[in-house]
Amino acid sequence: MEFETVIGLEVHIQLSTKTKIFSGASAAFGADPNENIDPLTFGLPGTLPVLNRQVAVSAIKLGLALNCEIRRFNQFARKHYFYPDLPKGYQISQYEEPICEHGRLVIRLDDEIERVVGITRIHMEEDAGKNIHDARTKSSLIDLNRAGVPLLEVVSEPDIRSAAEAASYLKTLRQIARYLEISDGNMEEGSLRCDANISLRPTGQLKFGTRTEVKNINSFKFVERALNYEIARQLSILKGGGQVIQETRLFDSTSGTTHPMRSKEESADYRYFPDPDLPPLIVEESWVEKVRSKMPKLPEELRQMLIEDLGLTPYDASVLTAEKENVDFFLECYQVSKNAKAASNWITSELFGLLNKDERGIADSPISARNLGELLTRIDGGEISGKMAKEVFEEAFKTGQSPSDIIQAKGLKQISDESELLPIIEQILETSPNQLAEYFSGKEKLRDYFVGQVMKATKGSADPKKLNLLLDKELGRRKDG
Ligand code: ADP
Ligand code: MG
Repeated sequence: MEFETVIGLEVHIQLSTKTKIFSGASAAFGADPNENIDPLTFGLPGTLPVLNRQVAVSAIKLGLALNCEIRRFNQFARKHYFYPDLPKGYQISQYEEPICEHGRLVIRLDDEIERVVGITRIHMEEDAGKNIHDARTKSSLIDLNRAGVPLLEVVSEPDIRSAAEAASYLKTLRQIARYLEISDGNMEEGSLRCDANISLRPTGQLKFGTRTEVKNINSFKFVERALNYEIARQLSILKGGGQVIQETRLFDSTSGTTHPMRSKEESADYRYFPDPDLPPLIVEESWVEKVRSKMPKLPEELRQMLIEDLGLTPYDASVLTAEKENVDFFLECYQVSKNAKAASNWITSELFGLLNKDERGIADSPISARNLGELLTRIDGGEISGKMAKEVFEEAFKTGQSPSDIIQAKGLKQISDESELLPIIEQILETSPNQLAEYFSGKEKLRDYFVGQVMKATKGSADPKKLNLLLDKELGRRKDG
C-alpha cells in the first residue's frame, strides 16, 4: 500500500518590537538574564496589561501579505498551564477570536512548481520565559526576559505534502516577515519556531490519519531532516500493521531522531477563557486600509516583475528577491544602468562572491548600487572592457573608492576608436610577415595570435568587438590585395 504525507505547520514568529506585547519592558534579544523585566512580566498583583499597538499592526501586515481576512472583533484569551517560566499561570493568547483567518500562501519547489497552502489563522500572543537547567549546581534558573515578548502564531491547513514543501513554506514565511520588517526571522535565536504536525494516509483516502506533533525544530538545516525522520517512522509503523499514537514528540538534532515528549493535550486542558483584563480589540476597516497603503512590494510580486518585465530567469529572480535588501540594490542598480541581465549577473556572481568571502551582507557593500550601475553603463557604452571593469570592481570593493574615481585615476579607457586602433593592427600585421603568410596558407588559428599581439600592444585596452571587426576587415583587404 502507498501512503501520502500530510503536514500542517504551526509557526511562531517573534516580532521585533521595541517593547513587550503588554508592557513597556524592553523586548530586545541578548540582554543579561532578567534585565528586561518589570512587575507585569512577573505577573505581580495590581499590574494590568495594555496591548502594544505595534503588535496588532504587525499582525495586520502579515495577514494582508498572506491574503487573510482581518477580523474586526478581537479578543485575548487566557491559556492556562503551570510552568516555572510562566509566573501568571496562564499565557495571554487569542483563541476563538484571532486577528486573521482564511489566508493562503504560494510556495515554490525548485523555482518552478507552485503550490498553495491554506492559512487557517494568525493570532497574537505573548512568549514565556526560559528555564535554564544547570547540571553543575544541580539547580534550575529562570530567565524572564523573553516572557511577554510578542509572537504571531501562524497556523497552516494540513495542505503540505512533503518535508521539502514544509521547508519551502517556512522559508517563504520567513522571507515575507523580513520584507514586512516585523521580525528578523532568525531561527537560531528563536525568532522563528516551528511545530510540525505530521500524519500519513493511504493514497486516495480522504480521511486524515493520526498525527504526531514534532517540536524543537530550531534550525533551517533540520526542518527536512526532522520531518523525513518522522515520516519514515510512521511509515514503518503503518506498513507493519501498527497504529500511530497521537502524541507530541521532540526532535533531537544530535541523533536526528524524534522521541516522545508527552501525550497530546486537548484544548480543554488549557481552560481557555476571555481575558477580563483586556478589552476586545476592534480593528476598524480604516485602520486596515491605512496599513495596506504602507505595505511594501512583496517577494512574489517582485519576482514576477523581474521575470516578466525585465527578462530575468526564474532562478536569478528568486536569488535576487530572497532578501529585500538584495532586490532593492538590484532595482537601484538597474535604474542607472538599464541593463537588467548585466546588473543581475554582476550582483549575483561578482558582488555576492566578494561579500560572501568577507561574510558581509549587501547592506555593508563597499560599492553602492548606483556606482555599480554607473560601472555597467561604461561597459555597455564601450568605454571600458568587461575585464577592466572587473579589476575596477575588485579595487572599488577593497578600497571603498567609487569606480569612476578609479577609472579616472588609472586613466583606464578602452580603445575603440577606429583611428586609434587600426594603425596598431596594421603595424602588428606589417611586422609579422611570416605569420601572415602562414595564415593565408590556411593556418587559421594564427588569427588568435594577431589578436593577442594587439592586446599586448594596447595593454589589454583594445575594445575586443571593435578589434575583431577591424582585424577581419584588414586581413580580408590584404588577402584580396
Ligand atoms: P491543536 O489544537 O492540537 O493545535 P489544530 O487543529 O489547531 O490542533 O491543528 C494544528 C495543526 O495541525 C494545523 O497546522 C493543522 O493543519 C495540523 N493538522 C491537523 N490535523 C492534521 C493531520 N491529521 N495531519 C497533519 N497535520 C494536521
Ligand atoms: Mg495548536
